[in-house]
Amino acid sequence: MNNADGAKAGGAESPTNTVDSANSANSASSANSLNTVDWAAVRAEFPILDQEVQGRRLVYLDSAASSQKPRAVIDALVRYYEHDNANVHRGLHELSTRATTAYEGAREKVARYLGAASAEEVVFTRGTTEGVNLVANTWGPANLRAGDVVLLTEMEHHSNLVPWMLLAERLGLRLRHVPVTDEGLLDLAKLPELLTPEVKLFAFTHISNSLGTVNPVAQLCAAARAVGAVTLVDAAQSVGHLPVNVQELGCDFLVFSGHKMCAPTGIGALYGRRALLEAMPPWHGGGEMINSVTFEKVTFKAPPHRFEAGTPNIAGAVGLGAAVDYLEKLGRAAIFAHDQQLVGYAMERLAGVPGLRIIGPPRGGAQRAGLVSFVMEAAHPHDLTTFADRYGLALRGGHHCNQPLMRKWRLPGTTRASFYFYNTTGEVDRMVEVLHEAHRFFR
Ligand code: PLP
Repeated sequence: MNNADGAKAGGAESPTNTVDSANSANSASSANSLNTVDWAAVRAEFPILDQEVQGRRLVYLDSAASSQKPRAVIDALVRYYEHDNANVHRGLHELSTRATTAYEGAREKVARYLGAASAEEVVFTRGTTEGVNLVANTWGPANLRAGDVVLLTEMEHHSNLVPWMLLAERLGLRLRHVPVTDEGLLDLAKLPELLTPEVKLFAFTHISNSLGTVNPVAQLCAAARAVGAVTLVDAAQSVGHLPVNVQELGCDFLVFSGHKMCAPTGIGALYGRRALLEAMPPWHGGGEMINSVTFEKVTFKAPPHRFEAGTPNIAGAVGLGAAVDYLEKLGRAAIFAHDQQLVGYAMERLAGVPGLRIIGPPRGGAQRAGLVSFVMEAAHPHDLTTFADRYGLALRGGHHCNQPLMRKWRLPGTTRASFYFYNTTGEVDRMVEVLHEAHRFFR
């Protein structure tokens, strides 16, 4: 099985986007256009990738679950804790002022990154899951009545299904789901009969974490607006991979997690259109979110602080701000182009693995993001993924928090390879070699 083990230390296989790699020591700090990114130099900024696991060179193809972190983000965290750490907002001393400036500065960066009209439209959360739950528990009860419809899709992650199921039970709502075609695309022909005026909220994912499908967000938001429905976009898989501008997309809410876009775990954000946030009641009660409290009465701050009770994840926000800076310097269009090159190459190579079937949109291009799910006959996804781990390959196997869709397709789950800008064609080659070996083994 040595042929499955060819990568060199530092991941020195050919970068996928080779336009400039010969002559440049560019790092993320100086690379900002599609043709000038030296992806090999960028990869070297991720210390974790330079290691062996199971005695083999690590090939990390699980970035859709959580991305790795560049030195710039790690350094920002260390710097914050070594120099500026204190509680925010209520301190009247130098360190608290610095921490507050760093925390609110990160909010400004996220707002700019998302194309929000102002930083007041950005609420820090623990991540995508908390963002959806926040909207379901504040906007939901304030705006929904028994019999109203919440429209979802069949490709939603559990975090954009379960909060609405809980709310439906509480308020007597009806849930509908836009079907997914056998090709893994939303069946838009069904939209007119599903997206009727009874729909008050349409919540859908930008990129499917299990299929790799890229949904036409602007088109879906426009269709929802036409029937007076509010929209919530799950951007967990998209904000770190392609340009996202909430005003151009025309969405009302958008949620994401920092840890999938080079930032630490435990931090993310909810974007909400100002008028909607201002009309929403608070969710958690506590410090930081009040204007005044007596034993009888409490008044609340304006958004976003109304939704951030208690001491927030200050260091996480600082790390998220550093990740935003990092990704902006690389350029999200360049990142998406790199993702697409890799996934196109991977799909081509995977087609040659016997007994392997790719799930999701069949071709590359704008409908397919940088991940590919597949099943191998004779091998359960868990067994295949565990087999790959023995060769240093980090894949993900299972239902990917998409149980209803897997059930519909009678799949036990899939094995998923998900790419980011630090991955290389050499790593795809290595995965394919291991999968050939797996075919021989399981057959
Ligand atoms: N939505 C999608 C599309 C995801 O891929 C994920 C995580 O995999 C989530 C939501 C949940 O994100 P988190 O667990 O960071 O809240």
